[in-house]
Amino acid sequence: MTPPIYTLLLLGSGAREHALAEKLTRDGATVHVLPGNAGIPNSHPDVNPLEFEAVKAFAQAHEAKLIVVGPEAPLAAGITDFFAGSDIKVFGPTRAAARLESSKVWSKDFMRRHGVATAQSWQYRSDSIAAARAKAAELGGHVVVKYDGLAAGKGVYVCSSLEEAEAALSELQTQFTGWFSFLLEEKLTGPEISIIGLTDGREIKLLATSQDHKQLLAGDQGPNTGGMGAYCPVPFANDNVLAAIRRDIIDPTLRGLQNEQFAFHGFLYFGIMLTPSGPKLLEYNVRLGDPEAEVLLPALDSSLLKLIEATLDGTLAKQTVRQRPGAFVGVVLASGGYPAPKFPTGFPIIGLDNLPAHVRAYHGATRLDAEGRLVTNGGRVLVLTAHGPDLEAATALAYEACARVTFQDAYYRPDIAQRPAPVLSASAVN
Ligand code: AMP
Repeated sequence: MTPPIYTLLLLGSGAREHALAEKLTRDGATVHVLPGNAGIPNSHPDVNPLEFEAVKAFAQAHEAKLIVVGPEAPLAAGITDFFAGSDIKVFGPTRAAARLESSKVWSKDFMRRHGVATAQSWQYRSDSIAAARAKAAELGGHVVVKYDGLAAGKGVYVCSSLEEAEAALSELQTQFTGWFSFLLEEKLTGPEISIIGLTDGREIKLLATSQDHKQLLAGDQGPNTGGMGAYCPVPFANDNVLAAIRRDIIDPTLRGLQNEQFAFHGFLYFGIMLTPSGPKLLEYNVRLGDPEAEVLLPALDSSLLKLIEATLDGTLAKQTVRQRPGAFVGVVLASGGYPAPKFPTGFPIIGLDNLPAHVRAYHGATRLDAEGRLVTNGGRVLVLTAHGPDLEAATALAYEACARVTFQDAYYRPDIAQRPAPVLSASAVN
């Protein structure tokens, strides 16, 4: 049977959207990407995904009945609410439910209301920095400072001394202007894990377990970035770990969504730390992680299109999620200077026609220059994702690919997927 011709719009412009577009195309859809980038087929750079009327006109012109949203900004701006009641469905939560990500203060209150395991925290406003300083001192500086709003991964400061906490609080004041709220959180310890699923607010179907590498430098040192690489599945995420995460984090979240009657049809991401006293939720994202998507989607054997349709039509419970065997490792090739606010770009990218077998290149910040050459166009330029029979083989293959692709000042972390296996105490998973 030939699959029905199915046209959908995908919003976003990074490597995550490249991976989504590739997967949904493989599942049988015609995918138009707004605005997309130089490496994603069917990109439309002239359509701004935050201009909802333009998105609507495009959808109508192309007879698209489904919009899949990659990044958080259109969700936080209310794209799902905009199309509510129309014959165009949006895969992503409403603006109100997107506060799980767009406001750290609101999100923390939600966790508290519904008994989701998380770090202790204290809320402050920009005019009460002195009180926050005093609290940070009381905690010996072992705190995490979190700006309330969306800050592209740049509003979180993890501190290990009073000096660092003081510096973080001062930086908050220079980085963010006007009136704002922020959280001070107890600093937790333990390995981190990303759990991502598709949910209709009642049921959730989980993709593979994955791990991101947020810091710029090897050994998890240096400044935080949008993410320097990811892998899946995570070897230490055994059944006991997953059962504890379900019980302490996922199930209370779903009960909370139902109790508060949120319309949530989309990806839900749980950033979790496995602490000595059990799993704790660090944050929700209301979308796929980037770079997690670039390993999770090639690893997904089931049709994502079918899972999305099932989420929207209330039949998610009947779906099964199959993963491809083996391991997937994605390494980000970044521009030298990233994540500083400014660094040079526009350098030609060489070697993409020479990738080893079982490696895909997902384009993040790329563009074609006036001469039609593919050049760098931002911080996270490409993600090279390798598939191997196990984590070691996939890692070796990903780095073989990194050695073949280059541009001026290219940088990648040399230790993606190579963290030593953590020793989890029994209390961490019970
Ligand atoms: P978030 O955006 O809240 O996930 O924070 C970004 C990163 O900061 C996380 O991936 C963690 O590495 C770190 N982080 C956040 N909250 C905490 C916490 N309470 N204790 C220790 N590290 C944290």
